[in-house]
Amino acid sequence: MSAIVVEVLAVLAGLGGLAFVFRAFAARTRPGVRLTQDANRRRIDRTATLTCPIHGLQAEESLVRLPDGSTLCASCYREAVHDQLPS
Ligand SMILES: [Zn+2]
Repeated sequence: MSAIVVEVLAVLAGLGGLAFVFRAFAARTRPGVRLTQDANRRRIDRTATLTCPIHGLQAEESLVRLPDGSTLCASCYREAVHDQLPS
């Protein structure tokens, strides 16, 4: 029983060490900084895609996909297509 606990702790320590090395790599090396900057760009682009200029940030599941492939906030779709004000 204690051998299993020791093995689990060893695995968790190993994973923690890998995470530490990865974070140090991401923060202190040029490729790591580039990866972080790419991730920042993707996160900002994703947030901008999900943000309606009128109604603000929307959940991805609540967006409406138009036939041309673009997305629209559900409230704007309701207003534009069905001429109803959001409740
Ligand atoms: Zn909207």
